[in-house]
Amino acid sequence: MDVSYILDELNPIQREAVTDDSLHSLILAGAGSGKTKVITHKVAWLSSVKGVNPMSLLTVTFTNKAAREMRGRIENILEENLNQMWCGTFHGIFHKMLKIHWKEANLLKDFSVIDSEDQLRVLKRVIQAMNLDLETWQPRDTQWFINKQKDEGKRKAILNMNATFVEEKMVDIMEEYQKTCDREGLVDFAEILIRAYELLTKNNDLLKHYQDRFRHILVDEFQDTNEIQYLLLKKLAGKNGSMTVVGDDDQSIYSWRGAKSTNLKRFAKDFSQVKTIKLEQNYRSSKNILACANSVIRNNPDRLGKELWSQKEEGEQVKVYRAFNERDEANFIVGIIKRWMEEGGSLSDSAIIYRSNAQSRILEDAILNSELPYRIYGGVRFYERMEIKNALAYAKLAINQNNDSQFERVINVPTRGIGTKTMDQIREKSKKENLSLWESAEQLAQDKDTKVAKNIKAFFEIISQLQELDFNKDLDKFFEKAISLSGLKDFHGKEPGEKGRSRVDNLDELISATSEYFSLGEDNDDDRSLLELFLDQASLDAGENQATENEDAIQMMTLHSSKGLEFPLVFIAGCEEGLFPHRRSAEDPKQLAEERRLCYVGMTRAMERLYLTHAETRNVYGIENFSPVSRFIKEIPEELVYQIRVASETEVEEKGFEPRIVGGTEHNVGGFSLGDRVTHKSFGEGVILNCEGDGSNARVEVNFDSGGTKWLVLSFANLEKV
Ligand code: ATP
Ligand code: MG
Repeated sequence: MDVSYILDELNPIQREAVTDDSLHSLILAGAGSGKTKVITHKVAWLSSVKGVNPMSLLTVTFTNKAAREMRGRIENILEENLNQMWCGTFHGIFHKMLKIHWKEANLLKDFSVIDSEDQLRVLKRVIQAMNLDLETWQPRDTQWFINKQKDEGKRKAILNMNATFVEEKMVDIMEEYQKTCDREGLVDFAEILIRAYELLTKNNDLLKHYQDRFRHILVDEFQDTNEIQYLLLKKLAGKNGSMTVVGDDDQSIYSWRGAKSTNLKRFAKDFSQVKTIKLEQNYRSSKNILACANSVIRNNPDRLGKELWSQKEEGEQVKVYRAFNERDEANFIVGIIKRWMEEGGSLSDSAIIYRSNAQSRILEDAILNSELPYRIYGGVRFYERMEIKNALAYAKLAINQNNDSQFERVINVPTRGIGTKTMDQIREKSKKENLSLWESAEQLAQDKDTKVAKNIKAFFEIISQLQELDFNKDLDKFFEKAISLSGLKDFHGKEPGEKGRSRVDNLDELISATSEYFSLGEDNDDDRSLLELFLDQASLDAGENQATENEDAIQMMTLHSSKGLEFPLVFIAGCEEGLFPHRRSAEDPKQLAEERRLCYVGMTRAMERLYLTHAETRNVYGIENFSPVSRFIKEIPEELVYQIRVASETEVEEKGFEPRIVGGTEHNVGGFSLGDRVTHKSFGEGVILNCEGDGSNARVEVNFDSGGTKWLVLSFANLEKV
């Protein structure tokens, strides 16, 4: 195979980062300098040139989407299906490990992952059962406490020394909570990591197995690893495993979740033979955009120090728009996007980024009015919507009827005459006799002919009908049945207005989502059913807020979820003191520095055009607030920005800042056109959905009949027309 392609695309320093033979390497580099690219290419390099078995690579990415993309890209380069290569997020990877070694990890075989909302519900239940006051011991506070301990790798024993009264009580709650989770087979996000760490610490043979297996560990976005993640990596690497980590201290934006950018320095100290490589050329943004981003981040103290440069053209000036109010701001943004489209730009090349989730509502409003499609990247959380979680609960019960939290969730949803009193009885019996809620309900209803007993039996009947279905294929049929048998569809259909309608739409959408879900191949160390795989993926996706569809739509997201992404056209909305930087962060120098890093992350997402918008007045909780422009805008030298002082279209045109035409999608490359049917020797037949690039870079996106779409580089894919 001609593998020169792997290195051809890289500059000399990136090439060095990929081919370097040192045991460990630390690639410390600014935004858009090719860090993620180095990771992908190193994986390809190791497996194709160095002959390293893909099985012995462990690649850690920041989102599931990034993991899927990376796997796809490497499969393209190597033309192999790499289902056996472990590549995913920390949570994805260690969840898989726990699924395989559930017994050694002291977990139930069919344990399920709970997201933050489920976790709160369990906590509430636990706190009540302990006869504690929910006002004093708020589930949210205890949740924060518990997750913080776990993220630090701490269980009770370590915590107990020097603890205050409040902490001690928190520890009690934590302990009760953990008992409940263990009994019901529930694993929260933080638990995945700490449990995996304990698994590897307590089982020497297992640890040795994985240390022998994973010869190379590669980690993206290393600046956002927390303590337990760092410990896990260190453990897995052992003495001989080679580590490649890439990161940017200026993009560390998760310290509120326990991330430590000091892990970058710590890595260089903790590991021997670390080769440090700095990449300083940015390939993403125009010179102007980069200069703006640099001028902002320069104001932060304690940086590891690196300055980015770009060989790209100057580009347009960065535009600052001062809106009258938040509606004007939203309308302005929509207007620019419309122009962008008229000139041939695609919607998904545009991103509206904001500091706080609540900002999205007004923006959504304006976009809805314009009838443009949009997607909240990471925000809407399809799988967190109530009706979806209810439908999933029926499926989870079909898999494990003793899943108490799901039982609680839907035993009376839709309402079927099983009230609080009955539930109290069920709970009490289950506690007294150490039964699951299902078991105790079953015993309570046994041989009885009361109305309640009948209702309970009817509920059991629904679940048992679902249990008879095949968990390994036709998930859409499964969910169709679950949604109709459960009565959820009728229930939501009767809700008045838009709300009910959108819930029914969502349920329908769930069926469409599952109809696209089928196994991507044999994965021999994973024996979950397809339904379980789907449910696990849904929990993980909801947890990290990923959007997955491929429709052309405006991309909306918070600054936090924009990490790692890039777009030709970017808006950062709400650049006002109090909003960004956030009022709660402006006083504390450390938090202010993190806000500034967020700003740097946001600005460096832009490739060609960057708009910073702010509103003179903004409606906050029903009050018109006057908000001064963000200090971050003031930190940019005047000559780099173009102040848009007008809102009227004609003036906008006269000032000449309307978007240039950016190349839209091409319709054919290298003799292939959209819609062509093609065949590939490993993936089979499919249809071309997209074409881009030219010469040796020409590639097409193919939707394969066997499942899933893939981008293939024509010069390697050996595609043939059918
Ligand atoms: P971030 O810090 O935002 O995660 P990054 O350092 O991971 O950024 P990449 O996403 O890997 O950067 O690369 C940024 C962009 O630059 C991508 O579009 C990538 O394809 C392109 N790029 C990187 N290196 C090169 C190169 N040597 N030649 C051409 N394009 C490159
Ligand atoms: Mg990256």
